[in-house]
Amino acid sequence: MARILVTGGAGYIGSHTRYFLEKSGHTVAVVDDLSRGFRQAVPAGVLHSIDTRDRKKLTALLRQERIEAVIHFAAYISVGESTERPEFYFSNNVCGSLSLFEAMLEAGVKRLVFSSTAAAYGIPAKVPIPEDEPYAPINPYGESKVMVEKILEWLDRYREFRSIRLRYFNACGAEPESGLGERHDPETHLIPLMLRAIQTGQPVTLFGNDYPTPDGTCIRDYIHVSDLAQAHIAAIEHLLAGGKSDVFNVGTGAGQSVKQVLAAVEKVTGKKVPHTIGPRREGDPPSLVADSRKLQNALGWRPQRADLERIVADAWAFAQKTND
Ligand code: UDP
Repeated sequence: MARILVTGGAGYIGSHTRYFLEKSGHTVAVVDDLSRGFRQAVPAGVLHSIDTRDRKKLTALLRQERIEAVIHFAAYISVGESTERPEFYFSNNVCGSLSLFEAMLEAGVKRLVFSSTAAAYGIPAKVPIPEDEPYAPINPYGESKVMVEKILEWLDRYREFRSIRLRYFNACGAEPESGLGERHDPETHLIPLMLRAIQTGQPVTLFGNDYPTPDGTCIRDYIHVSDLAQAHIAAIEHLLAGGKSDVFNVGTGAGQSVKQVLAAVEKVTGKKVPHTIGPRREGDPPSLVADSRKLQNALGWRPQRADLERIVADAWAFAQKTND
């Protein structure tokens, strides 16, 4: 069992990963500046409120907690916001990551799992997308993640700094027994917005119905947050066992359209989702589906909760607890 630092551990995917790491017997410390995360998502005594750009504090923490490996989630994640304030995204996501890597090198910690994104591919030529599709981000958020991926490639080559980059598709759902779930402020993600529309009666807008897809709405690969968390654990354990650096997509390999998600939400909740059809959202590719066979073959990971109705049921249980 290892001593692991989780940055961004008060956020959605970070908090679930912290929960599953502890369940697997690892000891976890969390760094989160709480600018986007929630204090309640981290048990007392585990949280260190540090900005990742504060290299000195990170180095001291890594030494003090005798950290052996890091899972790095801390980042801003909103595509729209990144187009309004690119400098804000590059500062936090790129400078914050570099500061963390420098701190790790100072403290002699050379194993890291990095939260990357399908946004690294932009509008891919091939769907399902294999990992060797070229980098082609179409917004500053995606570019910030690509920049960090490239830094990690060079650190692997010249500093024996081993990392696994996980490119996520659409994280969703919640782990019922953990009490954790998806909360963003403002919320921009489809499933929580549909659930909120049911709860408030305020319609959700479906962004476009004239895409070149079977029902005209965008197709995404919805991956349960607990499956995503398990992929991080497989990746960090692989590195701790001496595994080499690599990059993997994390998705189910199956795509669902916005209208299919709407139908699943109505079936699970037994309620109509108030909605309107609006224009396309800037920068939305028609279809993003992962080819995640590489991860399955290399680390033996399998999505266990890929069923969309299961995902929606878990998200609905959390939304009813928090939004009532
Ligand atoms: N979407 C939508 N209405 C919303 C939010 C999202 O129609 O209010 C669509 C969006 O265009 C995309 C899909 O739902 O096709 C998933 O979007 P989300 O923002 O959840 O994740 P993304 O794919 O941007 O990572």
